[in-house]
Amino acid sequence: MRSPTTRLSALTLAAIVAPVTIVVILGYVSLRQWQSSAELLFREQARDVATMAAEKVEMMLRLAEDAVLDRLQTQLAAGDVTEPTLDRIVADSRLVRRLYVFERDGSLLYPRVWRDPADALLFGDTLRAGTRAVWDRGGKREVLAGGQVCLAVLLRPGREPVLVAYSRDTEALRRDILETSLAALESPTIVAVLDQDGRPVYARSSLDRAEPVLAVPLREGLPNWRVAVYAPPGASPHDVVRRQVMLFTHDLKTPLSVIRMFGETLEMGRVPDEARRQEYYRIITHESERLSHLIDNVLDFSRIEGGRRRYDLAPTAVEPLIRETLDAFAYPLEQGGFKLEVAVEADLPEVPMDADAISQALANLIDNAIKYSDADRVVAVDARRDGEGIALSVADRGVGIAPAEHTRIFEKFYRVGRSETQGRRGSGVGLALVRHVAGAHHGRVSVQSAPGQGSRFTLWLPLAPGGDACPAS
Ligand code: ADP
Repeated sequence: MRSPTTRLSALTLAAIVAPVTIVVILGYVSLRQWQSSAELLFREQARDVATMAAEKVEMMLRLAEDAVLDRLQTQLAAGDVTEPTLDRIVADSRLVRRLYVFERDGSLLYPRVWRDPADALLFGDTLRAGTRAVWDRGGKREVLAGGQVCLAVLLRPGREPVLVAYSRDTEALRRDILETSLAALESPTIVAVLDQDGRPVYARSSLDRAEPVLAVPLREGLPNWRVAVYAPPGASPHDVVRRQVMLFTHDLKTPLSVIRMFGETLEMGRVPDEARRQEYYRIITHESERLSHLIDNVLDFSRIEGGRRRYDLAPTAVEPLIRETLDAFAYPLEQGGFKLEVAVEADLPEVPMDADAISQALANLIDNAIKYSDADRVVAVDARRDGEGIALSVADRGVGIAPAEHTRIFEKFYRVGRSETQGRRGSGVGLALVRHVAGAHHGRVSVQSAPGQGSRFTLWLPLAPGGDACPAS
């Protein structure tokens, strides 16, 4: 038979240990969730930084080499290919280590003899191996011999074109191109450039004990080289993210550096073609919009977290609010080829609301509808009377959300695993904000969705302030 003490400890166990266990498990689960979404965010941003760095390195390299080739072209046009003239061009360019000019038949035009027996091997082999394609393709630069020799065909008025072959000075490449391009890049991670054997040629700070995060290839100019991103030593990616997510700074800095970098690139005035220029302008516009949206979210989020977010409710007409909110999306909707359907029931009463907050919540829903759409690009916004309130819905025909995720998507920092693999950027705070705004209005937000079936988010707001007779659905 059990003693009273045993019963008491059994009760204690039930009364204290069980709830504590539940709290610990919940805490652990949400920490895990938080960590995995933070990890996704971190990788996404590391990829942005690496891609951006690769673009800039390629651009700087192309500019530096174009400058040398332009000078050569000028001399060829003037018919002056004497040794002292070309020697000076090479001497002036730190980047070009050795330069040879060949006639179409392979004979050496400049200099008259190989400067180094090793060059005869390196350049001679390259010429034998594959100059036909270069001749055939004309002006386009080729990088051969494991990235060591660059070739370009230059024209001579009234005569056969010539083939220019040059090698690069690794130290000048490191200092003038890599360091110049990357030293100012703002990122809490370490950016490095690795050669074809994976050896770091440049790193913004020591890679000692740093943890590799990811790498992207450098396409033009440096074949098989990569830009790699590392987490600084002593800080696991999680720690780095923890700081970043808490402060949200990186989230803001990434679009800013993207804007600055593409802006600078355009300012240099040497983006080779119109299509690429348009692409850069588009990126700048898109990143600026993303930035203002982020700033709104971040400011609000920190106010909410600090309990400082105040809502000023005033009777507001629904239709103009929807139109004004949609205005901000005219560009992305058009760019993405979206069809927009708006249906606002006639004679809707005014709703007591904080118009800025509701507009921002609506904007988050529209932003998501765009972001998570696939081939069937329709965004439908409607407003109608629903019980003692008004229902505002934003629907898309995009990827949809599995029922098991319907609750979790409203948690802060939660992102459905797929979001990253499908290349959709985000920080996982949008829906948490929407939910908070709904709650502050005594309303609610709900979702109807299934994978592949699109999603419909509905924000329900009561007509009587403080009333919460919200319908069950
Ligand atoms: P973010 O979009 O920044 O990741 P949100 O809090 O806005 O963060 O959304 C959380 C998650 O909910 C998203 O990562 C996405 O997986 C899912 N989600 C939100 N809206 C939609 C939608 N319209 N269609 C499909 N999935 C969505």
